[in-house]
This record gives sequence, structure tokens and C-alpha cells, in this order.
Amino acid sequence: MAYEIDKPEEQWRAELTPQEYHVLREAGTERAFTGEYTDSKTVGVYSCRACGAELFRSETKFESHCGWPSFYDPADSSAVELIEDRSHGMVRTEVRCTRCGSHLGHVFAGEGYPTPTDQRYCINSISLRLSPEES
Ligand SMILES: [Zn+2]
Repeated sequence: MAYEIDKPEEQWRAELTPQEYHVLREAGTERAFTGEYTDSKTVGVYSCRACGAELFRSETKFESHCGWPSFYDPADSSAVELIEDRSHGMVRTEVRCTRCGSHLGHVFAGEGYPTPTDQRYCINSISLRLSPEES
């Protein structure tokens, strides 16, 4: 399927850092507890680092202690695309940005977190950019 933002891989490679490119465009995973937003409690909007689309809001971020920023719901369900991922011998649900198709992380359900959706969007910090809200 075609994404609204559809750039050649060379262009993504030029625009992103090697670490950003690896996670966003090659579906890599940053090491647990290393991302800049893992424990962030700043109020604001998390956007896609590749294309700037709004993805998550800080109100749905919760402490999962899993080592990556965790959200229980996207800001808008159409902002993310969910794709079955059978890599690494597991069946998981990959989360991508609907606008540019970049990899964000995975979503897990039914883990028993006390959140309204019982879902954990486990998202790489490096896939996101936080815009703090002015209070
Ligand atoms: Zn995007």
C-alpha cells in the first residue's frame, strides 16, 4: 500500500540519523531503558520523528516498567497502522505510522495493566519527538 509520505530509502537515510533510520525504516528496536522518553512525564504531544504526524499524547502514557515509552491508546486510532509481525519466532502486532509507514514499535494486549484499554503500545523513543505543551 502507498503511504501519504512516500520517500525513497536514500532520502530517509539522508534525513535521519543512523540510529533513527535503523529503528524507523528497518524496524529495529532501541535497547531497553536507553530511550530519552522512557520515563518522561512531560505533558505534550508525541509525533512521528520521520514525518511529524501526531501519534500519542502524554495523557495516555503510563509506567509499564518495560524499558520503553508505553501508551495505552493512540491520539487518533487512524494515526497508527497495525500489522501482524511474525519475525523472531513470535506473533506480535507491529505499530507503524499511517502517514509515512515508519516503524514505531509493537502493541500488546491483555497484560493486566490498570489502564482503560488493557493495551500497551510499546514504542521506541527514537521513533518519537515530544512537543511539550505550554501551560
Ligand atoms: Zn510518520
